[in-house]
Amino acid sequence: MKQPEIKTALIDTKNIMTKSNTPLGGYSVNPYVGCPHACKYCYASFMKRFTGHTEEWGTFMDVKTWPKIKNPRKYEGQKVIIGTVTDGYNPLEETYGNTRRILEELKESGADITICTKSDLVLRDLDLLREIDRHNRLTVSWSVNTLDETFKDDMDAAVSIERRLAAMKQVYDAGIRTICFISPVFPGLTDIEAIFERARNQCDLIWLENLNLRGGFKKTIMDYIAEKHPDLIPQYDEIYNKKNRSYFAALEKKAEEMALNNGCRFVDNETPYERAPKGHPTIVNYFYHEEVKGSNNTGRRNRKVSQITSD
Ligand code: SF4
Repeated sequence: MKQPEIKTALIDTKNIMTKSNTPLGGYSVNPYVGCPHACKYCYASFMKRFTGHTEEWGTFMDVKTWPKIKNPRKYEGQKVIIGTVTDGYNPLEETYGNTRRILEELKESGADITICTKSDLVLRDLDLLREIDRHNRLTVSWSVNTLDETFKDDMDAAVSIERRLAAMKQVYDAGIRTICFISPVFPGLTDIEAIFERARNQCDLIWLENLNLRGGFKKTIMDYIAEKHPDLIPQYDEIYNKKNRSYFAALEKKAEEMALNNGCRFVDNETPYERAPKGHPTIVNYFYHEEVKGSNNTGRRNRKVSQITSD
């Protein structure tokens, strides 16, 4: 997908730290409004409603300014996720440096920081990340839901999968905890075993999340499947119109077997914080994670936590 033309504006915000209502709790930080990666399945496009944007998702970016965080230690031990409804390392970051700025401000906070990205621009800040890792828990996550660059190009305007995986390796080799976020898992298209094999030696965690088509992008995706993969239409109809969960239930089982066969833990709650032995990333089952209620993920969702210890 070609990067769309972006309309940019500067906006003032009072506080860059937003209390999160996700199951993981803590805070979310989005240094920009909008996202030029323009993923066709982007759940964050609902942001348009709250920000007065009528343009197509991916074609606008508001660059936030905020007063400096006065007391970073307030976030000690708190989960802070950077990039829940944008990618903090989108191409505009090269010019504006907002993500670098927030990282500088949280550098000695003692927070448990996770950066979510589809970019390799994060490598620009590798020295800073190393420094942050000394004072905080730091994790960097890349979304990789395919190894097929053509499918990737059909879905988003972010950098190639190879560049994401290369960045993941470099950050992992620098001693920083990494996640390979297999999301969203497209039925019949996302090969979780192939991605696991490709990423297992360069990540601590593999997160699995199903494609959710409840957003306004359902038609876009269904049209795409009808055009490019018409053989999958009956399956998508079962899952997304008839609400049949058997595909993801079977995939959940397959993921658990994959974990068992490879000496990996299989959990539905990634806590407590840990580093996995190389080659044996913890596999985290976040299928239908939106059903987890409350501010904390209890790990008692719909299955027991497997007590699989890696060698
Ligand atoms: S990278 Fe994330 S926030 Fe950006 S368009 Fe894609 S799904 Fe949306």
